[in-house]
Amino acid sequence: MKRKTKLIHGGIPGDSHTGAVSVPVYQVSTYKQESIGVHQGYEYSRTGNPTRYALEELIKDLEEGERGFAFGSGMAAIHAVFTLFNSGDHVLLTDDVYGGTYRIFTKVLSRLGLESTFVDTTDAEAVKAAIQPNTRAIYIETPTNPLLKVTDIRAMADIAHERDLLVIVDNTFATPYWQNPLTLGADIVLHSATKYLGGHSDLVAGLAVVNSAKLADELHFIQNAVGAILGPQDSWLLIRGIKTLGLRMEAIERNARAIVDFLVQHDKVNKVHYPGLQQHPQHELASRQTEGYGGIISFDVGSNEAAELLLSKLHYFTLAESLGAVESLISVPARMTHASIPEERRAELGITPGLVRISVGIEDAEDLIDDLKAALAD
Ligand SMILES: *Cc1c(COP(=O)(O)O)cnc(C)c1O
Repeated sequence: MKRKTKLIHGGIPGDSHTGAVSVPVYQVSTYKQESIGVHQGYEYSRTGNPTRYALEELIKDLEEGERGFAFGSGMAAIHAVFTLFNSGDHVLLTDDVYGGTYRIFTKVLSRLGLESTFVDTTDAEAVKAAIQPNTRAIYIETPTNPLLKVTDIRAMADIAHERDLLVIVDNTFATPYWQNPLTLGADIVLHSATKYLGGHSDLVAGLAVVNSAKLADELHFIQNAVGAILGPQDSWLLIRGIKTLGLRMEAIERNARAIVDFLVQHDKVNKVHYPGLQQHPQHELASRQTEGYGGIISFDVGSNEAAELLLSKLHYFTLAESLGAVESLISVPARMTHASIPEERRAELGITPGLVRISVGIEDAEDLIDDLKAALAD
């Protein structure tokens, strides 16, 4: 199956009981047993629910893994995966990882004895040098938020597997439509499905896919034991969103390229970060590793004042956190998504006060560019 066909025909399409072409919402908590322990595969909806299972099978197929899992948010999925480790274990993470991932490590998991080091994972030598005797995993986000740094997944897998470590990839930005980390050697892939997979700014959800039966058993045990599952209604909504992922990602890609072309030649825009740009430091790697460059662009307008002025003049870019939806969104990472990261650290990473991030939607590119043109004019 090719990619767009798989979005429609992957997983468990429809309902075998009635012929309904859409998976029904199984709004149910418990299931009748014929006799003790004899049932049709479902006992209790924390353990398994048919609508959630259809979604889990779909993401498993899209990421070409062994088993998929749906959680109540991206952070719940990330938390569940880190629960695979023990107190005293150590994890290496991409340095400009999502703010919430930085926060859960430094403020929550650290209290439970899980150790972490944040390292520039675009630098394989730096990664090797940061590995400790108690390191259990390399956790990467690629491309990153908001600077769009690209890490070589295959190189990380080679380093990790020589030492028996797991490679975990947050694939939220690229989506399974453009990038499949498991086929590049990763062991676990994570998604904030709140973003592109849902795609319509109408739900919060997280997904994980693992590449082995052993990890599948371990993660299912945690999903059931901890219980941060996605409900049937949101599972259904997410399946519906995923059906148009290909159409949306292609439209977003076209718009993003047109906007990047406009921004790079604008004299008020200092620096444009986009993996599709020839001058992006990992452009060649991005072209090899992914099928598309995505819809997130960040650029510097020089100061927080200039950023605020730009935001105040735009009509079609909604000022909001989050990304990956049909409508174009704009944010100032230093003041919003990355506010939980200490200021000195933001400066080290290059998240300057004038850095603006846009998440390109599926509106007409001409309208988006005219909007930016007017807002950047004197
Ligand atoms: C939003 C996001 C998360 C967290 O997901 P939620 O659904 O908001 O809990 C994790 N990683 C990345 C890259 C994100 O953009």
